[in-house]
Amino acid sequence: MTKHPARYQDFNDPQAQPRHTGIASFFRAPIADDPANADIALIGVPFDGGVTHRSGARHGPRAVREQSTLLRRINAATGVAPFSHARVRDLGDCWLEFPYELSGALDEIAAYFAQVHAAGAIPVSVGGDHSISLAILRGIARHRPVGMVHIDAHCDTGDDYMGSRFHHGAPFRRAVEEGLLDPRRVIQIGIRGTTNDPDMWGFSAASGMRVLGMDEFTDQGWAFAAAEARRVVGLGPTYLSFDIDSVDPAEAPGTGTPEAGGITAREALRLLRALRGIDFVGGDLVEVAPPFDHGTITAFNGASILFEILCLVEEAWRKRTESGGMNV
Ligand code: MN
Ligand code: MN
Repeated sequence: MTKHPARYQDFNDPQAQPRHTGIASFFRAPIADDPANADIALIGVPFDGGVTHRSGARHGPRAVREQSTLLRRINAATGVAPFSHARVRDLGDCWLEFPYELSGALDEIAAYFAQVHAAGAIPVSVGGDHSISLAILRGIARHRPVGMVHIDAHCDTGDDYMGSRFHHGAPFRRAVEEGLLDPRRVIQIGIRGTTNDPDMWGFSAASGMRVLGMDEFTDQGWAFAAAEARRVVGLGPTYLSFDIDSVDPAEAPGTGTPEAGGITAREALRLLRALRGIDFVGGDLVEVAPPFDHGTITAFNGASILFEILCLVEEAWRKRTESGGMNV
């Protein structure tokens, strides 16, 4: 039995209640079982079977849900109120029957997201490691390739690693090969760090992706990176994938493959807000690994970034809906 507020009627909206109360769904949004009841579906994918080094991202969805309860309903910087128009629902976690079979697990995730897509809901997901983004794209982009704004310390366009083609360092090479991504409409922002193979990310440039490395970001700034993103993805349908390891380890230590000298949380929020108007058809936040977090800083910054992603997706959804266009 739930005891409802008697004196403060506003508090019957769980998202208006004191933030330490209630069930920790994403942003304290209503929980739904059927994607048909959602315009935008917040989904956890607690899977890190594609991690090549330090695992732990399977705990990401729960930690981000918990920290997301600190956020409120309106984006003070942009005025966007993502819960006011769209039915934003927490669909819970993507269940996996065989989580220890990597390629099979990715097939299961893809089938789940295909169902969400068929029901007309736009997915905003929290991983899990970055291999889940390939599965999500399989679920939502099979009928036409999409563009992508990809913010990450790594290009994730590697190839076979120790006999597996589907680890978290390769999702976007596979996505191009499978016709899910148009590489000429892909920008990768924040790339840095060391490699063992000087050509580890060679596929990105060879396929036509725009790689905006960390030195260029540092020199030119978030506004330039956003302008480049808009130029590259253009007007077509676009996916947004945010790997938390793009953020500097000082502000996001809780991740499996950190790289020194990343973007600040402040730059990440400004960069994302400057992407308003792009036709986003989904987004994700991946690689939050709570076992390596200090306090809850990574999950909290991740939740704050997730809110900006939600706002971008909601604005795009609203624009398509108001113009009578297709929503998926
Ligand atoms: Mn990644
Ligand atoms: Mn990464």
